[in-house]
Amino acid sequence: MKPGDIIKLNILNTAPDGRGIGKIDQFVVFVIGACEGDLVLAKILTVHKTYATAAAVQVLAPSPFRQESFCRASSACGGCPLSHIQYEKQLAIKKQTVTDALARIGRFDLQTVEISDALGMDRPFCYRNKMVFPVGQAGGKAVGGFYAPKSHDIVPLDSCLAGEEAAMQALSCVVRFLNDESIPSFHEAKKCGTVRRVFVRTGFHTKALMVVISSFTERIRHLDRLVSALRETEFAGYCLKSVVLNVNQKINNLVLGDKNITLWGSDTIEDELMGLIFSISPHSFFQVNPVQTQVLYQTAMSLAELDSTKTVLDVYCGIGTISLCAAKLAKRVIGVEIVKEAVLDAGVNAERNNIKNAEFYCGAAEQIVPGLIGRDIRPDVVFLDPPRKGSDEKTLSAILSARPERIVYVSCNPATLARDAQYLADGGYRLTRAVPVDMFPHTAHVETVVLMSRVEK
Ligand code: SAH
Repeated sequence: MKPGDIIKLNILNTAPDGRGIGKIDQFVVFVIGACEGDLVLAKILTVHKTYATAAAVQVLAPSPFRQESFCRASSACGGCPLSHIQYEKQLAIKKQTVTDALARIGRFDLQTVEISDALGMDRPFCYRNKMVFPVGQAGGKAVGGFYAPKSHDIVPLDSCLAGEEAAMQALSCVVRFLNDESIPSFHEAKKCGTVRRVFVRTGFHTKALMVVISSFTERIRHLDRLVSALRETEFAGYCLKSVVLNVNQKINNLVLGDKNITLWGSDTIEDELMGLIFSISPHSFFQVNPVQTQVLYQTAMSLAELDSTKTVLDVYCGIGTISLCAAKLAKRVIGVEIVKEAVLDAGVNAERNNIKNAEFYCGAAEQIVPGLIGRDIRPDVVFLDPPRKGSDEKTLSAILSARPERIVYVSCNPATLARDAQYLADGGYRLTRAVPVDMFPHTAHVETVVLMSRVEK
């Protein structure tokens, strides 16, 4: 087998990243664009010692789970790699991903763990409250859209069913301005030009819209005309509240640079979550799917079984969303977060919602958590919501030494969740429930809430 070969494959299974899995004898082939149950012709892309990768070039017999993708750009864009798979099947695949990680990486006995069906959306479209569009040049003109899979080629798009129409309108407005005024957008290879990204945030409940224009240069000619054009746009369903110029003069792939200059309106927008108001600045982490965040947090709160006697530790707390939900139910909440701006936002958000029993510490969990436990803080319930790489032994062992009744782990990566849950299980906790939540329909991502309870000795 070599790159370029075309082979016939039955797709037997789905990999955690959404690719179909076929086998030739025992040799595994991961196939982009294939669906479990398909018979496809696949073109080999790369060949490795134990596996190969391929792309489906023709479906000879379609799987019963296959559907016509809802997006014209699905093969070029790569943003929704599961869009050719029926939604119910996507949810089943996500549950299987979580189940497999707990069994294979965590070595859990699945007879003793209740794994729920993945909680999906009734209407799995227009779910994103944040869209980031790369802007660049093609044929001497400014273009904006999405990156093609595994490349920095920009696929121009005029609609996207994952995001809001208002976000596309903001992008079109910026691209039109650049072309009308003959202002060069950022040229990645030549490292020159101006606008490199359009970043749009929307408030699901407040209907506020923030447009952040990330630029390589701090000065852009006629910027006032762009602000006027944005202000004159009738955004579908949203009201423009903030236009920010973000300056990123470094050659990197970061979405935003450090410097924000508010061009018009307010520095932040607000949104509501679980009955609380949150102020969100361009740099703050805020969950992207507002409908499913509610489902995620409700699940986490119900597994935590809080009451007014409980002390709660919320590790990796971001702008304090989980902390403040918990504070309404518990006696005291302590949040820990590494990003300074997020900790400041958390304090402001506590005040804004008149919550007085929450306090926040800024620093790395692995340093702050052992310190708090060392100072005799004894949480009854611990929330963990780490980034994809998961938690670490210093943080987890400190938590184990405090012997909380319950640990509710919210994870965006089943593999690191399974690893960390195994560590906690070895330290005297039993994994009883796992609830996968679909925060990103049509992608392979899955969020999971897990309950670990102390085994009484
Ligand atoms: N619970 C929040 C944020 C979850 S995202 C919410 O639901 O919105 C994970 C958070 O962990 C991010 O805010 C990130 O800045 C923070 N983080 C990453 N590494 C960390 C570390 N070593 N110590 C503390 N916080 C960290």
